[in-house]
Amino acid sequence: MSKVSSYPKYFNLTLTTKIILIYFVASCFIIPDVFSQEKFKIVIDAGHGGKDPGRPNPNGIIEKNIVLNIALNLGRELKNDGNEVIYTRDKDVFLTLRQRAKIANEADADLFISIHCNSFHDSRVYGSETFVYGLHVNKANFDVALKENEVIFLEENFEKNYQGFDPKAPESLIGLTLMQEEYLDQSILLASFVQDNFAKKLNRKNRGVKQSGFWVLHNTYMPSVLIEAGFITNPKEGAYLNSSKAQKDISHNIFNAVKRYKTALGIGENYEVEYKPKDNIVYKVQIAASKRKLELKSYNFKGLKDLSVIKEGRLYRYFSGNSFDYNKILDHKKKAVSKGYRKSFVVKFKNGKIVDVQ
Ligand SMILES: [Zn+2]
Repeated sequence: MSKVSSYPKYFNLTLTTKIILIYFVASCFIIPDVFSQEKFKIVIDAGHGGKDPGRPNPNGIIEKNIVLNIALNLGRELKNDGNEVIYTRDKDVFLTLRQRAKIANEADADLFISIHCNSFHDSRVYGSETFVYGLHVNKANFDVALKENEVIFLEENFEKNYQGFDPKAPESLIGLTLMQEEYLDQSILLASFVQDNFAKKLNRKNRGVKQSGFWVLHNTYMPSVLIEAGFITNPKEGAYLNSSKAQKDISHNIFNAVKRYKTALGIGENYEVEYKPKDNIVYKVQIAASKRKLELKSYNFKGLKDLSVIKEGRLYRYFSGNSFDYNKILDHKKKAVSKGYRKSFVVKFKNGKIVDVQ
């Protein structure tokens, strides 16, 4: 059918048919855009790679290979379970710490999981530990971060890129930023599930959840953990980590920890059902209006999520939050105000169009 002949046919339709048609077209183009929920997004960061083999050890074990295998296994399981997975590296390549954090931030991920193996001058030391970002409470924790941060020295122009950051100086990484403070509870929650699974399901020695100044954790804007899966300097644990059986077991238990984390936070299969709108009405919080076009990334909006934008004339109206529940959106407005968007207000949408401002 040509375009010209389709017009008269449209006008011949009954009113009801037209309404159905309009509704159908609208539901194809407007509603999914407003109501669709993105998948839970996880960035998996296999430590080291390329010219950086990882921690040296007398057992000839190569950290970068072990952590890549664990990362790929983990990614496969998470994808099969309906998550979106982004790898900082999925092969043997060198990446700077900046590139790793940038990948996670640009993806606007919900979680960042960095995987490493530990080393120590005393080969008797063994066990797994999981870190969240924080001030080094003791020298031992600082030493682990120091080793993982040292990769910065392998980068060209590191003085310029890291603006005075000295991986060897404990005071170089100062206090938590507001952003990390907000995500700290969630990071600790995931870290404790990881450690708990390793200890209970795999009988691993649990060295606990710890805080230290890992550069990569300092610079991601989402709940983030760094898993030290075990000590490659311990002959027994090193051989264990080097086996494909252990790599599968470890990744499976990290996967299970993510599942427990999502359940604990109420992010599950019911996620989409919960967001089914009544009468196609949803509420959002308008946080800003500007002539500038900003990318809808949470780091452009002080960490706020569920971002959307509408262009009106020359102005972009930016929204955060998306709920059919008015009380929930009021809570979200409070959050936006506390982040500094003091003039935030609630906007009501019907069928994707603004119908009311409250
Ligand atoms: Zn490492």
